[in-house]
Amino acid sequence: MIPMVDLKRQYHNLKADIDAAIQGVLDNAQFILGPNVAELEKEIAAYHGLSHAIGVASGTDALLLSLRACGIGAGDEVITTPFTFIATADVISLLHAIPVFADIVTDTFNIDSGKVEEKITSKTKAIIPVHLFGHPADMDPICALAAKYNIRVIEDCAQAFGATYKGKKVGTRGDCGCFSFFPSKNLAGYGDGGMIITGNKDMAKNLRLLRNHGSVVKYHHTTLGYNSRLDEIQAAIIRVKMKKIEEFNDKRRINADIYRTLIKRDDITLPIELPGCRHVYHQFTIRSKNRDGIMKTLQNENVSSAIYYPVPLHRQEVFTRRNISAENLTNSEICAREVLSLPMFPELKKEEIEHVSNVINHAP
Ligand SMILES: *Cc1c(COP(=O)(O)O)cnc(C)c1O
Repeated sequence: MIPMVDLKRQYHNLKADIDAAIQGVLDNAQFILGPNVAELEKEIAAYHGLSHAIGVASGTDALLLSLRACGIGAGDEVITTPFTFIATADVISLLHAIPVFADIVTDTFNIDSGKVEEKITSKTKAIIPVHLFGHPADMDPICALAAKYNIRVIEDCAQAFGATYKGKKVGTRGDCGCFSFFPSKNLAGYGDGGMIITGNKDMAKNLRLLRNHGSVVKYHHTTLGYNSRLDEIQAAIIRVKMKKIEEFNDKRRINADIYRTLIKRDDITLPIELPGCRHVYHQFTIRSKNRDGIMKTLQNENVSSAIYYPVPLHRQEVFTRRNISAENLTNSEICAREVLSLPMFPELKKEEIEHVSNVINHAP
């Protein structure tokens, strides 16, 4: 079976360093907000050329805490894409704010910046663009609208660590950039974890409060916070992988190029990289009207594939029950019917990509 992602191969390659990193934490016995979290925060802030990075418990919490730090609460509207993982939008509702969905473009699967302005009202407080599958969202027009209407931008970079837009790393344009270290992401731990980057000192201070029960001085609490700290063992593991992130992303890009040269079918649209963007291929996602047939053939030939995402968020029961508007979201519905993600990870072998492509080319 060719899997979507094979974490055992990566562990095998990094075993000595990972084992030593974990052992180091056990020996040091500082398990919460220890030196590895502090060092990883410095390394990730420096990687992005920003002054602040705040480790948190997950990518979901990175978004939730960022919304809180931006002052978003009951009745506020937050514009985002309906074609993403649920976490991008459920955090909005969890704060009693209202998600407002703007449709996507079918070539990158990202929010259509031309459809954002018509969704802005006097209640709009933030936009959450998602750099889906590793391709940067169209940040210039989004940031221009945010400046024009004085609203915040929180970037969901969970799938796009190291991707760039016009030479700038994703996560650095918005008020906050949110990352996930879920095991299958491009930069990942062996459990849950997340990180927020920001260039704003007050925002950073607020986020540090929020992740630790609203407290700077132990047992003195100034705001309602959370238990949302990045785990020290995860931080130690992620630091090992952080040294390899460029290599990992380059390898994904090479794999994408091989797929692109080998898959030859008129009824398949291959993923593209827009000019000025550096795609990091968290997923290699094709589109076809014959999606279900291709998926079945792959399955029969022992190749994994997956549908990200089969149900756009405005069709999810959790939001239909809340009467969230589902108007003019046609492209996200089309993509939900036609997308198929293929095996993609840095350690994927050329022969495996050849096999997958072959199966696809010969599928009925
Ligand atoms: C994975 C993911 C998240 C959530 O991250 P977790 O670490 O799993 O909480 C949010 N948004 C997107 C687009 C994701 O892919």
